[in-house]
Amino acid sequence: MGRFALYHDPLVLEHGTGRFHPEGPGRVAACVARLSGEGFLPEAPPSPSRTRRAIERVHAAPYVERLREASEAAPDGFPRDQAFTFFDSPDNAASAATFDAAVRAVGLSLAASDAVLAGEARSAFVAVRPPGHHARARSAMGFCFLNAVAVVARDLVEERGVSRVLVADFDVHHGNGTQETFWEDGRVAFLSVHRYPFYPGTGGADETGAGRGAGLTRNVPLPAGSDDASYAGGFVAALEELADRFRPEVVLVSAGFDAHVRDPLGGMAVTAEGYHAMVTALRSVAGAHADGRLVALLEGGYDHQGTAEGALTLARVLADGGETTH
Ligand SMILES: [Zn+2]
Repeated sequence: MGRFALYHDPLVLEHGTGRFHPEGPGRVAACVARLSGEGFLPEAPPSPSRTRRAIERVHAAPYVERLREASEAAPDGFPRDQAFTFFDSPDNAASAATFDAAVRAVGLSLAASDAVLAGEARSAFVAVRPPGHHARARSAMGFCFLNAVAVVARDLVEERGVSRVLVADFDVHHGNGTQETFWEDGRVAFLSVHRYPFYPGTGGADETGAGRGAGLTRNVPLPAGSDDASYAGGFVAALEELADRFRPEVVLVSAGFDAHVRDPLGGMAVTAEGYHAMVTALRSVAGAHADGRLVALLEGGYDHQGTAEGALTLARVLADGGETTH
C-alpha cells in the first residue's frame, strides 16, 4: 500500500561552500545519481506557498531576513556557487544561492510531508542540502542554516492537525537545533543517537526535555568507533521504547550518513547493515503507530560513496514497505 517517493531539486546544488568544504554539492549529487541508477527517480514538486511562514514558526523573522540579505550580498560569482562568504560561523560558508537553496530544501521537505499526509506517498526521502539539524532559532551552525526537520515537525502540529510527531536523528552529530526547538513541546518527541562528547557539545543522556516536553527528548551518546551493534542497536532500543510510550502519528527522520565507516568526519564504524537495521526499525514504528507515514531528510554524510550507500539502503527499506523480511 502506498509508495516511496524521492524528492530532490538541483537548485540545492547551487549553494556554494568553496572547493575544500566537506559540505559540497557532490555529496548530494552522488546520492541522487546512485538512487536514480537503482530506479528511484527524483521528483521536484513546488514548495508550498506557506513555506516562508512555516520557516518563521521555528526561526526568528529577523534571522531569516539576515540570511536572505547575506546571500544577496555574497560576492559576485557566476555560477552562484562560486564565490562565498561566512555566515554566523566559520563552518557556515554561504554563497549567493544559499538562501534560495536552504528555503527550497525546506519547501521540498514540506511538500514531502504534505504528500505523505495526503496519502499520495507512504514514505519519502528528501535529498537536499544545506543540512538543518544544528540550525537554531536565531543562528546558523555546523553547515546548517534552516532547520528543515524542525520546520516540518512544527508545521505538522500547528498547521496540519497532527497531535504527535517523532523526530529521530541518526546523524553522527547531536541534533542540537531540533532538541532546543522542541525542548518544552509535548507534541514533538526527539531522539538522537550520536558520537559524544563531540561537535556540537550537547546531547548527553541527562538531557531529556522540560515542562510539557519532559521525558520526550531522548539522547543516546556513544563513544568514537561505535559500530553497527552499538550504534544501530542503541538507536533501535531507544526508538522502540520512546515510540511505544509516545505513539507518534508521523515519523520524521534526520537521516545523516556521517556515522558511516567511510566518513572522514564522524569517526564511527556503521555499515550498510547498521543503516538497514535503523531504517527497518523506523519503518516498523511508523507502521505500528503512524499508518506508515515517514519522511526522512538528508542531514550530514561527507564520504560520497558512504552517503550514497546509506541513502540507497534507506530507499530500499522504505520502498520495500515491510511486507517482506530480509
Ligand atoms: Zn553530522
